Amino acid sequence: MKHVVWMKTCVLLGLFSPWLTAAGIPSRPILVGNADNRITLEAGASLPQVLRLARTDGKDAAWQGLGAEILIDHATVDGMAVPLHWRFDPAASRMRKDSASLVYEDRSAGLRLYWEWRARAQHGPIEHVIRIENHSGHELWLPLQDSFRYAWKVTASQPLQQLWVDKGAGEAPPVGTHLVPLAEGYDWRGESSTFAHPRAGASREIIPYFLVRSAGSLMGGWYVGVEFSGRIAMHLTRRGDALEGVVGLNPEPGPFRTRLAPGETFATPTVFVGASDGDVDDTGNALRRWVRATLNDPATLRDPATLRDPAYPWLTNDSWGSAMAITEAQARRMIDDAHALGFEMFQLDAGWFRAVGDWYPDPRKFPHGVAAVADYAHRHGLRFGLWVDWAQAGTSPAQGALDVADPRVRGWLTTDPPPDWKPSGFKGITIDLGAPAAQAWAAREVRRIVRDYHVDMLEHDGYVVAQGCDRSTHPHAPIDPARTRRYSDDGFLWVDSSNSTDVSLHATHAYYAIQTALKRAHPGLMLEVCNDGGRMVDFGSAAHGDYFSIVDAYDPVSNRQAFYDASHVLPPAMLEAYVKAWPTPRIENFRYMLRSGMMGWLTVMIDTNSWSPQQHAAAAREIAFYKSTLRPLIRDADLYHVGPRADGKGWDGLEYFDAERDTGVLYAFHGSEAAPGVFRFPLRGLRANGSYRLHFRDHSSPDREAGGRELMQSGVAVVLPVTNSSELIVIEGL
Ligand SMILES: [Zn+2]
Repeated sequence: MKHVVWMKTCVLLGLFSPWLTAAGIPSRPILVGNADNRITLEAGASLPQVLRLARTDGKDAAWQGLGAEILIDHATVDGMAVPLHWRFDPAASRMRKDSASLVYEDRSAGLRLYWEWRARAQHGPIEHVIRIENHSGHELWLPLQDSFRYAWKVTASQPLQQLWVDKGAGEAPPVGTHLVPLAEGYDWRGESSTFAHPRAGASREIIPYFLVRSAGSLMGGWYVGVEFSGRIAMHLTRRGDALEGVVGLNPEPGPFRTRLAPGETFATPTVFVGASDGDVDDTGNALRRWVRATLNDPATLRDPATLRDPAYPWLTNDSWGSAMAITEAQARRMIDDAHALGFEMFQLDAGWFRAVGDWYPDPRKFPHGVAAVADYAHRHGLRFGLWVDWAQAGTSPAQGALDVADPRVRGWLTTDPPPDWKPSGFKGITIDLGAPAAQAWAAREVRRIVRDYHVDMLEHDGYVVAQGCDRSTHPHAPIDPARTRRYSDDGFLWVDSSNSTDVSLHATHAYYAIQTALKRAHPGLMLEVCNDGGRMVDFGSAAHGDYFSIVDAYDPVSNRQAFYDASHVLPPAMLEAYVKAWPTPRIENFRYMLRSGMMGWLTVMIDTNSWSPQQHAAAAREIAFYKSTLRPLIRDADLYHVGPRADGKGWDGLEYFDAERDTGVLYAFHGSEAAPGVFRFPLRGLRANGSYRLHFRDHSSPDREAGGRELMQSGVAVVLPVTNSSELIVIEGL
């Protein structure tokens, strides 16, 4: 009880400098947190420790930490392993109520380590990073320091579940959102990278995050995510009274090592952790807000007007429906029609440039250049977006092109191409952005493209962040030739080796620096993150870009599946669905196709001039409704996964509800199975004692009024007589 009083007093006074013992060690636990989460730390003499993770409101029991942190125990100097003995340095450490930086030093090795925790906002998770500074005056090599090692005490009888979500990648996976029992002996590992290519035998990758939830006890749940796009592994096991694992850089294929020049700092990928009440959507709603407001919106990087822009996310019409055949004349016709339909951006996808690596307009297809198309879009009140695979080199000898025959460019490649090598239509060899000269070239090139082509939104694609690189002149670790494999896929080449994780570490930092500098140079510029579809959907790119291509298959079911999955952890406005032409014999099918991409950021990848007058009228109506009703909810409302995940046959659906405005919408879909009949969607987030008006937009049922409790318990009955059709039900508080 005394302990509780002490903590409360400290919260009130903001006093978090613990009293020090004679040895200079804090005699009290260190508390760091915000209105949602609180973590309790201890600064041991040689190792720090997480003592507890809990919700600040104290509604659930805390997760009790078992055992101390594990810090790297050696460094390598001139090929010799030097053992490390860390000692806590109280004088250099800083403790506040919203952050703590505990400093450990090995003076003889010349290394200083910062074990840091920070609550960046009043709400949301707490972030953690470990930084290691080299004060030795000479180069040394570090083994892998995990970002986060956890061990929580659990009881044998406690029923637990784990939730994790797959990336949409090229095609949405069969399951996607996994919620599985976490029993004794459970042993799970998830990976995230930028290079999960099927030809390399890569298995499914995860959005680097998981949630452990307590099924039916007072424990609540906890979650961890990684703010990094390079090679990441997450591990979770349950054995006896411990739930434990590590999160951080992927140690495979090892052994990992990274160079640390004198004066340099190594930082583990930042993780965020939080306690939750265990409910999947409530946890998701808090996390999604934090990602949008805190992670994605560092005030220095964003024009505040963009955040307030009522047109965000922008309704986009994209040229990829015509693939590489797009021409200036067609682009102008598309802009004319996009303007008439109410779109807000025209996006010129691949097909506009001379060749891979040669990011200048193809004069045969774009005789007046790209800026002329941008200006044409601007004159029609549309923004202009552009696709560029800016980290790929090809074989164009033109001035300004990334030509693999250019000796300077050759030094930036991850590997030498074979003598007869040719790039594919829009993919070549990735340059290693971790090489400083390559980074500098790419930073200049994207600035030139945005400036000269009058770009409002720049989409990158392809494998911008390298992994595995056989160059010995780059800052990363060299390859181990015995453990190196080379892959090729229709002109696209890549390497996998023992240095893959270290290469991705350097390249990811360079990629972030390029994105950040570009935003600084062009406030208000939007950045779309695409990596052969949804291979780079993670919290690091969320912090350095504005929205994601979530899957590279664009049919209605793929779009809904990928959205269903990613929206468990990322803000819906950041999740882009590309809608491709799809068979729509009936207008119901046409609306179903459009709406399958209208739950987040909508990009229609169709030349809308191909639509019939009836389809035009329906699309204009849907676009107007998106602006007036759906978009404000996508931006601000809570999201609830109230229906099953789409399987293309049966029912699926999602609900947005904004408690502040007491209004929401239910998206209901039905697939190809004949005689759909009736389905009930139990709503969430409503006032139990409130009354609501339900408006069925397509009049599939008469509008009606109902009580909040009824709608949450019995649900909304939706009747759809047509296969592959949909309904939007607006929910308005009375
Ligand atoms: Zn390299």
